[in-house]
Amino acid sequence: MCFFAILGVAPRERIISQQTSHCVVCGAATTHEAFESRPWFSLFFVPLFPVGAAQTYSRCRNCGLTRTQSTGPYGQSRN
Ligand SMILES: [Zn+2]
Repeated sequence: MCFFAILGVAPRERIISQQTSHCVVCGAATTHEAFESRPWFSLFFVPLFPVGAAQTYSRCRNCGLTRTQSTGPYGQSRN
């Protein structure tokens, strides 16, 4: 008998809002979307329940720059 389960944790994103503004990296006046990302436990690729806190990001649709609410470009602090 052979049985295995495909399980894991993967982030799910939900767009909260969109607005047009100038990007600090590419300089274009383009759409920026605010989205919420939250890790979900999944079994056989079906998300079952959230396992962590949600974080809110903003992403430029022109160059892909992703920023958090409290930091600069993704993964870097704004000082
Ligand atoms: Zn940009």
